[in-house]
Amino acid sequence: MGATNIEFEVEGDKPFQEVLAAFKRRQAQDSDDNGHQDGYSGDFQTVHSVENHGHKVFTDYQEAQKYCLDNAEKWESVIAVKYKVTDKIKVPKSFQKLSGKLRMLQGKYSELLKEIETNFLKDATSKNFVACRHCQSKIATDHLRGTACRVCGENMVSKSSMNKLANLLKKVGETDRKINTIANELKKKAAEKSNKTQWLIAGWGAC
Ligand SMILES: [Zn+2]
Repeated sequence: MGATNIEFEVEGDKPFQEVLAAFKRRQAQDSDDNGHQDGYSGDFQTVHSVENHGHKVFTDYQEAQKYCLDNAEKWESVIAVKYKVTDKIKVPKSFQKLSGKLRMLQGKYSELLKEIETNFLKDATSKNFVACRHCQSKIATDHLRGTACRVCGENMVSKSSMNKLANLLKKVGETDRKINTIANELKKKAAEKSNKTQWLIAGWGAC
């Protein structure tokens, strides 16, 4: 028996009775659309009830969905929670700048990677053999395709090249984390300002 995530939304700050009625309508609709399939139709027919967790109001859809999927009992019930609906978030210039920086760093990384690989292969194929600096194997270069050692699997490019790549990757990671932090702050602020909510009803169906 498998499980598939199922969900639907009810717009606006409606009372739970309306969510329950919508759930029952959805079950009937699923039955019409999918048939019973011996109880494995992977839809709302395969759960019995919807639990009211409407006291939980999440900052956004993603958080609400995660909570529902983490807490819904498989093939038993789905969970109904609320989340804040926000107007389109205005992105500050500093954020755009940072996004530009990330794209630039990512581009630089793939260019450097390509350059290092190309140079390694060019240099290696000018000789008959290349020595792996990790396991000291002598690798025949006539069938060399990539930079991985055929014996130990390690990358054979020089240590300094690997360091250059690692440094750049570190910068990519740092910038990415900064962007995520700012994005989360923006979302949180927008949610605090908003007084609009809607329901998410989600969980696991049997398939
Ligand atoms: Zn090796």
